[in-house]
Amino acid sequence: MSENKNMVVAGAGLVGSLLSIYLARKGHNVQIFEKRPDARKTQLYAGRSINLALSDRGIQALRQVGVVDRVLEQAIPMYGRAIHNADGTETYQPYGKEGQAIYSVSRGGLNNLLVDLAEGYENIQLNFEHACSNAEPLKNRISFTTPSGDDLQVNADVIFATDGAGSVVRKAMEEQGLLESQTKWIEHGYKELSIQANQDGGFRMEKNALHIWPRKDFMLIALPNPDGSFTLTLFLRNEGEVSFAALNSDEKVLEFFNREFADAVPLMDDLLLDWHQNPSSPLGIVYTYPWVSGNTILLGDASHAIVPFYGQGMNSGFEDCYVLGQMMEEISDWTELLDAVQESRKPDADAIAELAMRNFVEMRDLTGDPSFLLQKKIEARFANKHPDKWLPLYSRVTFSHQRYHEALAKGKEQDAIMAEVMAMPNIANHWDSEKVEAKILSLLNNS
Ligand SMILES: Cc1cc2nc3c(=O)[nH]c(=O)nc-3n(C[C@H](O)[C@H](O)[C@H](O)COP(=O)(O)OP(=O)(O)OC[C@H]3O[C@@H](n4cnc5c(N)ncnc54)[C@H](O)[C@@H]3O)c2cc1C
Repeated sequence: MSENKNMVVAGAGLVGSLLSIYLARKGHNVQIFEKRPDARKTQLYAGRSINLALSDRGIQALRQVGVVDRVLEQAIPMYGRAIHNADGTETYQPYGKEGQAIYSVSRGGLNNLLVDLAEGYENIQLNFEHACSNAEPLKNRISFTTPSGDDLQVNADVIFATDGAGSVVRKAMEEQGLLESQTKWIEHGYKELSIQANQDGGFRMEKNALHIWPRKDFMLIALPNPDGSFTLTLFLRNEGEVSFAALNSDEKVLEFFNREFADAVPLMDDLLLDWHQNPSSPLGIVYTYPWVSGNTILLGDASHAIVPFYGQGMNSGFEDCYVLGQMMEEISDWTELLDAVQESRKPDADAIAELAMRNFVEMRDLTGDPSFLLQKKIEARFANKHPDKWLPLYSRVTFSHQRYHEALAKGKEQDAIMAEVMAMPNIANHWDSEKVEAKILSLLNNS
């Protein structure tokens, strides 16, 4: 068991606030510095309900520090995907086995709750409106600009940078030659829109599903909120023929939505208002290495921001906290511990970055493709009959704690098997036959 240390956490977002609780429970003195004002007092999130999908990895990390029940009280289970096809039909695909769900949670609500819980620890000190301006890992020092504009230098035994995808600490470390970093921007961006609740507060679409309008090169998704509304996100190219740049008038926006999302438009009372009020934002993947220098470590989006298509960015950041928590039990030397966390998490961060990009193709393109749906049916049938032999990739990532890089490798093996199965003559007519089952079993034996 290590002695109590003085620690700094830069960034009280989702990961920083949870991480502080992990550290405080081990008896360490934690000073959190957050750039923004206290969102609980400023109503930063008021009026806009932005939500996220929380799944098993995040739940495990929240459970470990006893906060999961408070979070799930406000969460809405989503048991599957409701697919809104271009021809106006709707299909439903369960995410996993009966009862398995991912949970729609409010980003602001969850962040505020974690900050509230952190504030309850007497060995955590919260400092809002303190923006990190520099970090000097080799001196165990980090600097902040205070609300009055002064420069505050803080020395600490261990420094955690959880200041998000645009991390100032990461940039400072890069400038000092302590790491290499690259942000890969993708060609798609996103914009948030909404469907308001019924007059009586009821939901205007199926509540317990994640809704997707897959349109090959772009897609719209919707997640439910406890007040009966849905938050929608349009993922679309930034530039080009069908893009945010091309939708440059109200007429074009309405024409696009009426053409592509005809069943959603009558529910989107504030379509044009949302369109103008909410920015279209870029999406990128952060690749960084090393994450550690001296006793400073980057965690969460600061070290591994990913695209949101697997709903795993926050979940993997929470898993960082869980892994650190496990390692705190075993390793008392902090230099060794930070290295161990980095070595364990880096391959998993790279794997979930790859998986998230692959899932974009699956969500926007394949969820509406009959051959893909048939493949999923075959996999589901086989997995039901042989649960010890087949766990679908989505379940490995979302409903298991298998390391991401192992899940990715297994997923690739399963893809190769399913490619052979789907190439069987007339597969659509005998997909549920013993022959297909025997084929998968024999391919599994040979792999
Ligand atoms: C459209 C979209 C949808 C998403 N959906 C999901 C989902 O469904 N499921 C999921 O798991 N993930 C999702 N994510 C990813 C998720 O939002 C992030 O992975 C998660 O927020 C990372 O948490 P974090 O604490 O590392 O960073 P952040 O949440 O960005 O928090 C960083 C904190 O640091 C503060 N900060 C920044 N700079 C400074 C500074 N200089 N000094 C001090 N403080 C600073 C910020 O104010 C903020 O409070 C989504 C992301 C996007 C963009």
